Amino acid sequence: MRWSNAFIPTLREDPADAEAVSHRLLVRAGYVRQLMSGVYSLLPLGFRVVAKISGILREEMDRIGAQEFRLPALHPAALWQRSGRWEHMGEEMFRLQDRKGADVGLGMTHEEVFANLAAELRSYKQLPQIWYQIQTKFRDEPRPKSGVLRVREFTMKDSYSLDVDEQGLDAAFTRHFEAYRRIFSRCGVEALAVEASSGAMGGNESIEFMVRSDAGEDDVASCEACGYAANVEKATSSLVAVEDEAGPEAPEKFATPGVHSIDELAAFEAGAVPTRQLKSLVYVLDGEVRLLVLRGDHPLSEQKLLDGTGAREARPASEEEIRAALGAGAGSLGAVGVSAIPVYADLALQGRSNLFTGANEDGFHLRGVDLTRDVEVEKWLDLREVSAGAPCPLCDAPLRVERAIEVGHIFKLGTRYSEVFGAEVLDETSAKRPIVMGSYGIGLERAMAAIVERCHDENGIVWPVAVAPYEVVISVVKPKDVESLEAANSLYESLVAEGVEVLLDDRNERPGVKFKDADLIGIPYRVTVGPRGLAEGKLEWKARRGGESRDLDLHKAAGSIVETVLEERSRSL
Ligand code: ATP
Ligand code: MG
Repeated sequence: MRWSNAFIPTLREDPADAEAVSHRLLVRAGYVRQLMSGVYSLLPLGFRVVAKISGILREEMDRIGAQEFRLPALHPAALWQRSGRWEHMGEEMFRLQDRKGADVGLGMTHEEVFANLAAELRSYKQLPQIWYQIQTKFRDEPRPKSGVLRVREFTMKDSYSLDVDEQGLDAAFTRHFEAYRRIFSRCGVEALAVEASSGAMGGNESIEFMVRSDAGEDDVASCEACGYAANVEKATSSLVAVEDEAGPEAPEKFATPGVHSIDELAAFEAGAVPTRQLKSLVYVLDGEVRLLVLRGDHPLSEQKLLDGTGAREARPASEEEIRAALGAGAGSLGAVGVSAIPVYADLALQGRSNLFTGANEDGFHLRGVDLTRDVEVEKWLDLREVSAGAPCPLCDAPLRVERAIEVGHIFKLGTRYSEVFGAEVLDETSAKRPIVMGSYGIGLERAMAAIVERCHDENGIVWPVAVAPYEVVISVVKPKDVESLEAANSLYESLVAEGVEVLLDDRNERPGVKFKDADLIGIPYRVTVGPRGLAEGKLEWKARRGGESRDLDLHKAAGSIVETVLEERSRSL
């Protein structure tokens, strides 16, 4: 491609609204443009990167024996009503009506459509199968964010495994796990595999692939010592036995005027450190009021609350609901003597005594509370969100907690969708069995942005060769110099003939502008063709990553460039 004929609208300034590095750089370097909130056009460079990622995805899916489909984005409501997700997906699903008034949804994922197709399978002999597509998804995200990291229309590679039993699913899951590892490594980013909550997909085991980055919206807890890693929505910590000092025979009420929080009580009362307080939260789970109790310094994880109770929806109770349930305001709540509403307590509190908590009376607290003696706990659950430094559940070493971008997600779905859609096969004994399914996704634009988050410097993007839009840029210092242009053209032709992806910067711009642009768009290798070098029969070769440069002999340049590029490519196979 000749730059003079290319659409690469680089900008001098960062876009005003962009915080994430990938947002800033992908817009500035001319890869993407926003059409409306959460909806982006891929410009030619962006399209080439996404096409490279698609290529890697196809190769790795083919390698595990997957078959490619292309399913519609327009789905009849009836299909989603059968699985119950027409309701469940709520406002995240784009919905419209066709001219006859029939309800139609835009596909946010394709379990329903694939399970419906799987109903045509008849025998266990046809299994296992893996089906996949690379296709557009629509999700009306409440907060589109950070350029293409969280958008409302995006491309996903989604695959679905079909097996006759759980062991088959385990094998398909493992094959995907390994394929995902290869995919991200070939894309040039380190993706951490972490245990995840299965959320709305309805499954029982799921792993997310996470790229560490402050631009992410997830937090990952990980242990350097043993390799444990989990999304904080799922992560737990080991339970440390605590020896509480002996307390009074029964809880003692004391006045706490103006005290409404854990910190205020800690400042008010000697000994009431947050680790010796109870945090009492009133929540509404699918319409039912519940009292949750955690250690004073332990934040509640709403996702763990949902996962632990099986509720579909959880929200903090309103002030009126709290008062109606416990007779006090949010600053003075406690679980002692509460029997009107079920109490769920976090496991870290088991066996604790001599603690502080609210007295369910405005302006009063209790000291000397013994969980076993004084609180009627209906369920002990893992409710706390782990924080940095908490002991690893496997080896007790302190956990790290870091922000990360979820680039991929693999789920064991089980038979939920196959049962609904009648996707059954006859097994060896001619008995009907619902197909056991798995579902596996990678977002392509998000993957592109995650790579930029990891691969950039102060001058711009630094693409790994495997996903770069072009492998080499030839910068012609003086395109008006006939000899320069001829040398550059001839090098360009030889490289293209060998299959190297080359951008020839033949624009009438100052060399400084060209070098800046080449760095900004992040092409892995730059060859500079200028009169001074040519006079000595030389070209300059420079690597974007690391910045080393060396002279190439004009006549041997093409050969050595091809060699370097091929070597680099083979490294990511
Ligand atoms: P998130 O928690 O970030 O909303 P999700 O759990 O809803 O993600 P999945 O349904 O598992 O995502 O989708 C599979 C993959 O699709 C994700 O790992 C991610 O790479 C991509 N993806 C999901 N939602 C978006 C989005 N709004 N914009 C861009 N990519 C997305
Ligand atoms: Mg989501």
